[in-house]
Amino acid sequence: MNSPLAVVCHCPCGNVSFDITAPPVFRAFCHCTLCQRFNAAAYADVVVFRASSVTLGDESGIDFKVYKQPPVVYRGSCRQCSKPAVEKIAVPMMPRLIVVPAENITEPALLPESACHIFYDRRVADVDDGIRKYKGFVPSQFAFGSRLVKGLVFGS
Ligand SMILES: [Zn+2]
Ligand SMILES: [Zn+2]
Repeated sequence: MNSPLAVVCHCPCGNVSFDITAPPVFRAFCHCTLCQRFNAAAYADVVVFRASSVTLGDESGIDFKVYKQPPVVYRGSCRQCSKPAVEKIAVPMMPRLIVVPAENITEPALLPESACHIFYDRRVADVDDGIRKYKGFVPSQFAFGSRLVKGLVFGS
C-alpha cells in the first residue's frame, strides 16, 4: 500500500485516538481466554504494528492493565467507553509492538487478511473461514512468533 503520512484511528467512542504511520506486521485472531475477557467477544481480531508505527500521544484516556505475570502484554482500554483501545507488547529481544483491535482501524488498507487463529482450543465457537488454526500454548505462541518475525524481516 502507499503509506499515508498518518491515519487517525480511535476506540469506538473516539475518546482515545492515535496515528498509524506505517503498515502492520500482520493480523491474527486470538481465542485465548484473556482476549475473550478483554474484548468481551468470542475472540480478538487484532492487527500487530511495530510500536514505532503508532503514535499514541496523550495516554491519559487509556487504562492499561496487566492480566498475567510477567507483564508482557499491557492491555489498554478506553476510560470512557471501556472498550479495548490498544495493547502494548514487550517481548524480550523483539522490537516493541502495539496491537490494535481491527474494530479501531479506520483505514481498510491497514487491515490485511488475518494470518491465523491462535489458541483455537479455547474457542467458544467454531470459525469456518479456511484460515489456519493453531491449538495449545506452544503451537499458538510459535504461530504468532513466526508470523511476527516474517513480517518484521520481510515486511507485510
Ligand atoms: Zn472510547
Ligand atoms: Zn489472546
